[in-house]
Amino acid sequence: MALIVQKYGGSSVADAEGIKRVAKRIVDTRRAGHDVVVAVSAMGDTTDELLDLAAEVAPIPAPRELDMLLSSGERISMALLAMAIHSMGFDARSFTGPQAGMRTDSRYGSARIVDVTPTRLREALDEGAIIIVAGFQGLNDDTQDITTLGRGGSDTTAVALAAALDADVCEIYSDVDGIFTADPRVVPLARKLQSVTSEEMLELAANGAKVLYIRAVEYARRHGVMIHARSTFTPNEGTYVLGEGMSRPSLTEGEAMEEPIVAGVTTDLSQAKITIVGVPDVPGKAAGIFTIVSKAGANVDMIVQNISAAATGRTDISFTLPKAEAATVLRALAAEKDSVGFESLVHDDQIGKLSVVGAGMRSHSGVSAILFEALSAANINIEMISTSEIRISVVVRGDELAEAARTVHSSYGLDSEIEAVVAAGTGR
Ligand code: ASP
Ligand code: MG
Repeated sequence: MALIVQKYGGSSVADAEGIKRVAKRIVDTRRAGHDVVVAVSAMGDTTDELLDLAAEVAPIPAPRELDMLLSSGERISMALLAMAIHSMGFDARSFTGPQAGMRTDSRYGSARIVDVTPTRLREALDEGAIIIVAGFQGLNDDTQDITTLGRGGSDTTAVALAAALDADVCEIYSDVDGIFTADPRVVPLARKLQSVTSEEMLELAANGAKVLYIRAVEYARRHGVMIHARSTFTPNEGTYVLGEGMSRPSLTEGEAMEEPIVAGVTTDLSQAKITIVGVPDVPGKAAGIFTIVSKAGANVDMIVQNISAAATGRTDISFTLPKAEAATVLRALAAEKDSVGFESLVHDDQIGKLSVVGAGMRSHSGVSAILFEALSAANINIEMISTSEIRISVVVRGDELAEAARTVHSSYGLDSEIEAVVAAGTGR
C-alpha cells in the first residue's frame, strides 16, 4: 500500500463527464489499496474566463481580489469531484488550499509556497477518506489572505503535497501521454520517454517543453519527489521524472540498460533577437549595456559578441529575450545610444531556438558535432550558439526551426518507428 498524490489538469475535468472519469480513476487507485490525495485544477478554461471577466470590470484588477476570484475556479472542481466520488460509495473530502495548510509568501498572482502543514489532511487520511485539494492556491502567511501560485500552479500544489505527506509518487495527469523526445506536433516521430532526470526535465521545460511547469519540477528536485507524468485518457504508463538516486519503478532488465545520451530536442519560437551594432570595443561597454537591459526588466537568454574589426575598434553584440520584452528594451537602449556610443539597433523577431538536452553529454564527446552536422546537411544556418553542461542551443531562422528539429532528432537516433499517436493535447 502506497500514498499516491494525483494531480488532474483542467482538460481532464473540463465537464461533468470528465469529472466522473477522473472520479473513477481515483476510486480505482483507492480500490487497489492505496491512500489517495488529489490536487485538482479549475475546469477547462475557467481560469482564463475569470481573468477575462475581471478585465471587463477593472482595467487593472486589485491583486488581492484577483487571487480571491481565481481561487474560486479550483473550489468548483474540487467540490464536484468529491461529490462524484461520494456517489460511487467512497468517502471523499475536499479542502481549499488554506485548509490543506498551503502557506505562501505575499506575491499575489505568483506566490511561492513557504510551508505546508497538512494536519487536516493527515486526520482525514487516517479516517480512510480520499482527499481532494484545490490546486493553485494558498494562504499568505502574513496577512492570512488567499494567494494563487501562478499559471499552471496546480502542478506545484501536487508536488508540495507529495513532499509534505512523504508520498511514494506524484502522478501528474493531463491530456498528453508523458514527456516526449520532442513536441510531436513538430516532430511526428517523437517518442515517449520512459524516464528523464529532473535535471534534464528542468532544461527541457526551460527551453520550450510544456508538459510540466518548471516550478513544480524544481520543487520536486529539491524535496526528493518522484513525478510520473501520464494521461487521464489511457491506462498506459507515462514518463517518470527522477531525482538523485531514484529509479523508475517496474523496470525490466532491458530497460535498465537504456541510457540515451540525448533525452530530447526542444523548440522555442517565443524569443526575439536584438543586435547592438558598432559598440566601442573597450572595457565596460557590456556592463553598461546589460545594466540598461536588466533595468528594463528583461530576461536575457543567449548573448553573442563578435570579434571587433581591427580597423574600426567596434564590435556587435547580439542577445535574445522573450518577444514581449523586446519593445521596452529597444526603447531603453535607444535612450542611451550616445552615452554607450553604439551605432544602431537591429530587432529580429523571426528567430527560432532549438535545444538538445541530455545528461549523457557530460561523459560523451562529439554530441555537438552531430548537431552541427545535421544542420549543415539540411543547409540550415546557425546564428547563435550557447551551451550548458547538459544542453546545446542554437538560434536559426524561425521558419526553418521545425525542419531543424526533425533532422536533429533523427541524427541523435531518437526517431521512433511509428508516428506518435498523440491526443493533440494541451498538456494541462
Ligand atoms: N487553473 C490554473 C491555471 O489554469 C492552475 C492550473 O491549471 O494549474 O493556470
Ligand atoms: Mg487550468
